[in-house]
Amino acid sequence: MPQGRLFVVSGPSGAGKGTLIIELSRSYPDSTWLSVSATTRKPRPGEIEGTHYCFMDEHDFREMIARGEFLEWAEVHGNLYGTPASAVREKLSQGLDVILEIDVKGARQVRAKEPEAVAIFVVPPSEEILENRLRGRATEQEEELRRRLENALEESSEKDDFDYEIINDDLDGAARELYSIYERESRRRVTGG
Ligand code: 5GP
Repeated sequence: MPQGRLFVVSGPSGAGKGTLIIELSRSYPDSTWLSVSATTRKPRPGEIEGTHYCFMDEHDFREMIARGEFLEWAEVHGNLYGTPASAVREKLSQGLDVILEIDVKGARQVRAKEPEAVAIFVVPPSEEILENRLRGRATEQEEELRRRLENALEESSEKDDFDYEIINDDLDGAARELYSIYERESRRRVTGG
């Protein structure tokens, strides 16, 4: 069976990448798998253990780092986040395309280890819209929101390292762009070119 392909979707918090990858997995349920990250962040209301994240304390997270169990990990907005490597490898070997939604530092590590990974950067159309989206989500305190906005500007300067950039000004258009990238890149694996 041919191996699946690894897709890394990155970009500032509030760019809408989470919604986009859910749309992608709904449209291609038989060929994609969304990786579930580990994090030391506290769950938000409605988040489900094992579905949205594996929530853990810092001690357990650092043990996983020490055992080399992460494909990548990074500190983002003051919390630790990481991609458990074993699940990713297992799904790839089953021929599934694995989608990671991670920050730019993590994306850099994945690209160094897996140069064949397809790296996609999702940007919000403007700083103002990003701020409105983060405020609309109302899940963060003001200080946390500021930190996310500052990080967003910093992250945006890294987009040149990615294979594709999607400007998420409307969800339908951005989702269509993501589907077309996905179809093109997953076909490439089949034909080997
Ligand atoms: P949130 O706290 O809003 O769920 O996620 C904050 C940021 O952490 C987002 O930019 C998200 O992409 C990133 N993130 C989520 N999981 C991982 C991961 O496993 N590794 C890395 N490096 N970043 C992650």
